[in-house]
This record gives sequence, C-alpha cells and structure tokens, in this order.
Amino acid sequence: MQEVDYIIVGLGLAGIAFSEQLESANKSFLVFDNGIDGASRVAAGLYNPVILKRYTLPWKATEQLDIAVPYFKRIEEKIGAHCIQKLPVQKIFSSIEDQNNWFAASDKPELKRFISPVLVPDDNQYINAPYAYGEVMETGRIDIKMLQLKYQAYLESKNAFAKADFEYSEIEYTDQGIIYKGIRAKRIVFAEGYGLKKNPYFKHLPLVGNKGEYIIIRAKELQLTAAIKTSFFIVPLGDDLYKVGATFNWEDKNTIPSKEAREELIEKLASLVFCAYEIVDQEVGIRPTVGDRRALLGVHREHSQLVVFNGLGTRGIMMSAMLAKHLFNHLENGEDLLKEVNITRFGKKIKGAMH
Ligand SMILES: Cc1cc2nc3c(=O)[nH]c(=O)nc-3n(C[C@H](O)[C@H](O)[C@H](O)COP(=O)(O)OP(=O)(O)OC[C@H]3O[C@@H](n4cnc5c(N)ncnc54)[C@H](O)[C@@H]3O)c2cc1C
Repeated sequence: MQEVDYIIVGLGLAGIAFSEQLESANKSFLVFDNGIDGASRVAAGLYNPVILKRYTLPWKATEQLDIAVPYFKRIEEKIGAHCIQKLPVQKIFSSIEDQNNWFAASDKPELKRFISPVLVPDDNQYINAPYAYGEVMETGRIDIKMLQLKYQAYLESKNAFAKADFEYSEIEYTDQGIIYKGIRAKRIVFAEGYGLKKNPYFKHLPLVGNKGEYIIIRAKELQLTAAIKTSFFIVPLGDDLYKVGATFNWEDKNTIPSKEAREELIEKLASLVFCAYEIVDQEVGIRPTVGDRRALLGVHREHSQLVVFNGLGTRGIMMSAMLAKHLFNHLENGEDLLKEVNITRFGKKIKGAMH
C-alpha cells in the first residue's frame, strides 16, 4: 500500500502553496486535481498590495507580499519556468479630488512604500485618462496558467500527482489517519476553491463564491506596458493581447461565459479605449470568496485528519504562501491559527456545522 504524509485535493494557488510547504519540510504527499474548473486557471495573475478603490492596504498585505515574491521566485527556479513578470499597475484618476486622495495616501507611513507620489502623464492617444495615472510600486503578474501546468509536470515527474476527481465517499478512517483508494495518509488538505461546495465535510462553511469574467482582446495600437485600472483592469499579456475585466457577479455560480458580462465589458471599454480591437476569447472563474474577506483554514471537528485551505478570494497570489506556512505550522508544530482565518470563527452560527 502506498503511504504518504498528506493528500492534497486541488492544485490551484492554494494546493501549490501547500505542496511547496510540504516539500520544503521533507513531507511526502500526493495531489489530486480534476483539471476541470478553478479560479487560478483564469485569474489575470496581478499582485498589487493596495486596494485601489479606497487607497488602503488589505489584511497583512506587507507581510503577504514579502513572503509571496520570494516564494514565486523559488518555484520559478525549481521548475524552470518563467512565470513572474514585473508589471507596473497604474490607476487612472477620475478627478482632481481623486489625485489629491492619492497624494494624501502616498504620505501615510504604511502606504509610502507602495504609492508613488509622482504622477504618470497620459501620453497614450488611445486611452481616455485626462487626470493622469498614479503608479503602485512593487507590483507584477504571475502567469498562473503556466505555473500550474509546469508545477503539475514537476509533481508528475516525482509521482506526486494524479489527474482525477477526488471521491469523498471513498475515505476510510483509521487511528493514524485515513485510507483513500489504497493510499494511506496522515491527513487530507482540501484546497478545492469553489469546488468546496461539493465537499460533504466542509460545504457548510460560508464560502460565497463570486463569478468573474474577462474578455481577451487583440489591440495592435494600444501598446500598453502597464496594467491599467479604472473600475476594471486592462492587463497586457504580450503579442498585442489584453485581459479586460473582470466582472463581479454574486448570483451566478456557473462557469459559462455570459452575454451580459461581455456586453458590460465592451461598454466600459468604449469609454476608455479609442483604438480598434477584436475580442478573441472570454474566460470565467468563480472566486472562492467569504463574506468577511478572510480565508478558511482549519481542521474538521470530528475528523482531525481532514483539513481545509480555502477562501483566498480575490487575492490568491499574495495570500497563498503566507497562509500555507501558517496552516503547516498549525498542523505540524501546534501553533495556534490566527482567529481571523480559523474556521472556528463561525462557531455554531452555521446550521449543520461539523467543524
Ligand atoms: C476572474 C478572476 C480574476 C482573478 N484575478 C486575480 C488576480 O489578478 N490576482 C489574484 O491574486 N487573484 C485573482 N483571482 C483570485 C484567485 O484566482 C483565487 O484567489 C485563487 O486562484 C484561488 O485558488 P485556489 O487554489 O483556492 O482555488 P482554485 O484555483 O479554484 O483551485 C482549486 C482546484 O481544485 C480542483 N478541484 C476541486 N474539487 C476537486 C475534486 N473533488 N477533485 C479533484 N480536484 C478538485 C479544481 O479543478 C481546481 O484546479 C481572480 C479570480 C477570478 C475568478
């Protein structure tokens, strides 16, 4: 019988980060991923430490960034893939007041490191940005699709990956852990993104899910060298291709491209971009979001072999490495989980809660 320390279900940003954590601690593991959906496959892949609507930092943003960037560089070297790209993120100001708020933010001690006080002029004739741009520093883009493919190949080369649907009903419990289809493991870490909704052990958790769609356009004249942000992003992908979006839809939970999202993005684009373009694709994913915007980490109340790592929401790139380390330290070194991310924060408020 094959024996491993851990089984991981899901090879999105969460599953990759936990795999890395296990490998660096010399733990054995096997990852299952069905390759069907997944937010990581469609995400634009931007990392940007500033919330550009309010000019504030998200929860533990500096700590997250300081862990995330070296983490992705280490993976790049290990798997031989170039997946990190330094990419400026520039916010288009909507008014003089907006500019003033930006300057005020650039003076705040926690934001100084990230908000450039020098305005970027509007010198692209095809963009409508009369109030210029503000640039966020220390931003970039991870090509997550490529990272996933290369990381999967890396795990395959070590016999640590299985492309398969994980079947929850096949788990057998033992004193030391679990047995799953002939594989003995001490623990299972579930990192299924929105797929958690099908997991009988953790589906009661308040993972809301938010459908996001992009259109991919080809625009030869646009020539952007930065990701630009208004109420949506335009992210250069190279070869005159750009990701435009994403939309936010709290109602639909399917991964079918919608006409509404396409029309919404075309309309928004019309007020910002003046050159010709063609739409070459449309992509959809469900962000694994939680109402309180915090991740979901913890251990099942009855089966301590079962662990959840989810709720990375809209910021999986920045959060995944820090939280994987935190979860690992909890499981292996008995460190307490931060209460903000611990699933016990929902207590008995949730009907049917089993954790
Ligand atoms: C449109 C959009 C744009 C985004 N843009 C950004 C961005 O620019 N920057 C950023 O940081 N974040 C962004 N995000 C958020 C980011 O994508 C998520 O935070 C992150 O990808 C979540 O990773 P995850 O590993 O938790 O889940 P996922 O990426 O969804 O991975 C879960 C994996 O588990 C697999 N799985 C599920 N159930 C099973 C099962 N039973 N058996 C086997 N496999 C299973 C799925 O196939 C999938 O591969 C965006 C999200 C969307 C949807």
